[in-house]
Amino acid sequence: MTESRIYKNILVGAEMQDDDNKEYKESNLADVLRFKMRRDGKRFWANDNISEYVTEEHKEQLIEEATEAFEQVLKTLLIDTETDPSSKGTARRLAKMYITEVMSGRYEPAPDATAFPNDSQDRYEGMLVVRSELRSMCSHHHQPVAGVAYIGIIAADKLIGLSKYSRIAQWCARRGTLQEELCVDIAREIQKATEARDLGVYIQMTHGCCENRGIMAHSSLTQTTVLKGAFKDDAGTKKEFFDNIKLQQDFAPR
Ligand SMILES: [Zn+2]
Repeated sequence: MTESRIYKNILVGAEMQDDDNKEYKESNLADVLRFKMRRDGKRFWANDNISEYVTEEHKEQLIEEATEAFEQVLKTLLIDTETDPSSKGTARRLAKMYITEVMSGRYEPAPDATAFPNDSQDRYEGMLVVRSELRSMCSHHHQPVAGVAYIGIIAADKLIGLSKYSRIAQWCARRGTLQEELCVDIAREIQKATEARDLGVYIQMTHGCCENRGIMAHSSLTQTTVLKGAFKDDAGTKKEFFDNIKLQQDFAPR
């Protein structure tokens, strides 16, 4: 396809309704979506959620397009994808894995976190600490980043189901991230869902990019903390949060 034809298709695609995929198929859908996001000033970094631009049908086509691109990468790496049985279908497995698993938090909307009122006379006013297993990958090397997040809040007027803390944290983690950014993202999304002003997020993770390559540090652990409201300003609340984390670690060493 000539460059002007691709560009024309992108322009046509940008003007179309989202449910009309016919024209997209003729051009490259990834080009069309990038064009739309740039036009709208929408940032699409590895840790950004772009679900408002990507439908379920789009995902199917993006998997097709990424399969072709991964096939090309494998060819360039001089891997015989035609006769090596282990490498046959790897391009498609990679494409599917990126879009539906390791980077799914970019393409899926936020998990539904129905809130329950916490405003009766005997409302819960204490601290709540939830431990969430996290699996992520670094934006720099696309290596796995694995660990746990401890999310603490002082209950506000809304409570969300306990599993929702983990669902929100995992949704933030299933992208290309930096651990520092991930910590901030989880704090922001939990705050959005719970409306809690007092909140702390502590994450400890191991980084594949430091273990499998580079400095080959096999037992290095990276810790990040984001504290807001009383968790930041009140020494007692801060201590209670970290004491709770120690209790959790005694209960289930990571
Ligand atoms: Zn890395």
